[in-house]
Amino acid sequence: MDLLKNKVETLPRIGKAMAAKLKALGILTWEDLIYYFPFRYDDFSLITLIVDLRSGTRANVTGTVEMIATKQSANRRLKITEALVSDSSGLVKVVWFNQPFIANNIKSGDKISLAGKVDEDFTGPYFSSPMYEKIVGGQNIHTSGLVPNYHLTQGLSQKQLRFFISETLKLVGVVEDWLPKLIKQKNDLADLAWSIKEIHFPQDDKSLAKAKYRLSFDELFLLQLEAQLMKQGLSIKTAKMIDFKGEEIRRFTSQLPFDLTAAQKKATWEILQDISSKKPMTRLLEGDVGSGKTIVAMICALNTSLNFNQTAVMAPTEILAKQHYNTFVKFLADWPIKIGLITASEKKLSSRSDSKRLKVNEITEAADIIIGTHALIQEKITFRDLALTIIDEQHRFGVLQRGELIIKKGNQENIVPHLLSMTATPIPRTMALALYDELSISIIKQSPVGRQPVETKIITSSERPKAYDLIINELKANHQVFIICPLIDPSDKFGAKSAKEEYERLNKEIFSDYEVGLLHGKLSAKEKERIMSDFVSGQIKVLVSTAVVEVGVDIPNATVMMIESAERFGLAQLHQYRGRVGRGENKSYCLLMAEDISMKSLERLKCLEQYSSGFDLAEVDLKFRGPGEVFGVLQKGFPELKLANLFDLDLMKLAKDSAKEFIKNNPAGLEDQIIKAKLNNQTSVHLE
Ligand code: ADP
Ligand code: MG
Repeated sequence: MDLLKNKVETLPRIGKAMAAKLKALGILTWEDLIYYFPFRYDDFSLITLIVDLRSGTRANVTGTVEMIATKQSANRRLKITEALVSDSSGLVKVVWFNQPFIANNIKSGDKISLAGKVDEDFTGPYFSSPMYEKIVGGQNIHTSGLVPNYHLTQGLSQKQLRFFISETLKLVGVVEDWLPKLIKQKNDLADLAWSIKEIHFPQDDKSLAKAKYRLSFDELFLLQLEAQLMKQGLSIKTAKMIDFKGEEIRRFTSQLPFDLTAAQKKATWEILQDISSKKPMTRLLEGDVGSGKTIVAMICALNTSLNFNQTAVMAPTEILAKQHYNTFVKFLADWPIKIGLITASEKKLSSRSDSKRLKVNEITEAADIIIGTHALIQEKITFRDLALTIIDEQHRFGVLQRGELIIKKGNQENIVPHLLSMTATPIPRTMALALYDELSISIIKQSPVGRQPVETKIITSSERPKAYDLIINELKANHQVFIICPLIDPSDKFGAKSAKEEYERLNKEIFSDYEVGLLHGKLSAKEKERIMSDFVSGQIKVLVSTAVVEVGVDIPNATVMMIESAERFGLAQLHQYRGRVGRGENKSYCLLMAEDISMKSLERLKCLEQYSSGFDLAEVDLKFRGPGEVFGVLQKGFPELKLANLFDLDLMKLAKDSAKEFIKNNPAGLEDQIIKAKLNNQTSVHLE
């Protein structure tokens, strides 16, 4: 039995409650746990002698506890734990506040290691609330060397997570290395078991780098293997030839309420050209938020329907799928085209008013265009005549999920649908090609005419009332407003605004004359749906929300996007939010509420004031911070990579060559079960 597949509940000190917390981080099994990598390390590699401690520095000391006690402070509000620790050079005082349990954990005579800030009082330098760890033989994991820092969730501490990971590593022993020996040798890659241990608890910078390199290689290798297998799979398949129905398409576009931009026309033409051939298309349509990708997709779907073939449109969230459904139904009302909707909570067919008991396969049989969430790739769904698959916000899906929709859902053995993926992520062409060779790319750089750029302003706390004045003015003009908060629930730990609290406050105090709605990921799909449609219909004027509105929602009447604790979001994400407004003809505003006004965050936010195009923004951001950091945000979700940098083109090439060679050496196909399982794992995207 593979230990790695054990659930985390089977580990010591993990009960139901803790398992739920780990689950929030996507950690379900032992394997998830040891593959949950740190994002940063504290360097405690040097041990300081007590006599050398200096106030204002951070230091690491090991010594013996001479005494320890907890007392109540004079004003009775604080519990203060004080200890004296000695080493060969001297004695130092240690103070912790409101952690009385420490005095139970550590006893006089214990050997401990301390790491943290050194302050000074009249007695000289002392440790103020340092991290501590008893030394019980062996290596200590919290306070010596390079100490890992992980992304956490409420109620889970660094210390706990480190403990769980280190225990799991001990229990697992040696993680079996699945990478073929030949590839390892050829690329001088470190051992897997060693690398996993090193990435969590590195000996030094050098071995950390080596471990990272190996694990990054793994990610890119699997990605490339996937891409190559898909390519190989596609190369022996054909797609339906979809004729260009020029007359009808011209009639459709001439009846649109707007003229297509030149970039939209070009992209449409490129796609229609591709799908008229029997070589399966794999094309990526990149266009900034609001550039009008949906209509391009719709024209291609219409053209496919006119050929009596089906189109599937997959969106990452229910809200978005529903919105696409409504848009398609509205724009195609005069055409004899049936449109279906399939999400977890809703099944509909545009030609049927009694959707109550519709079965999914009735929809996939009857509809010409089937719109849905990842519900579309369930095992049991089959299509009548699928010829074109469109994936919106493709970066939100895993590679395999995407592959599934084209390879498995073709209705005949060797026929697959054409694939169009759409994204607002400005992926540079060089990188996209390094990732998937043979991918064709269409880019819409231009935004529709008549759009005014969104006026973007950084607002500090003293200017908050002015921001509310601006919003009230907009509300008086009957416009609508988004307010984004980083958290759902209040959290004293981080001090950031939570959607629930803000909703209460704004509803009661600031916008009491207007209908305010609250949207967050913990609501049921039905509730989310209802709130969103009330906002779309204009019943709700102010929508307070967490990140769930992030993708594609189109509400032309919304003119203000206010983002609380803006510095907590990545530039790419902020730009996505901003793209939610400025979609109609009215002047729109993006208000970035800055809580942390350090130079670094202000300068970053200033980029948004300065640049209105996502492509420009990606470029400056790249210059600003170097590829690793920037695209950490961007690539989050574009294939799900934990460690590897998509912009490391050298490593990408190495991985690609290795994948090609591997396929060449395994002509019978993928026999290796472990690698197969690994590939399946790659798809674990976390959709809300
Ligand atoms: P995105 O590329 O972000 O998916 P959408 O397709 O949702 O953008 O389009 C945003 C809005 O712009 C929609 O309301 C759409 O109807 C409108 N739109 C699309 N193309 C044009 C155009 N050429 N001129 C004016 N408005 C357009
Ligand atoms: Mg869109």
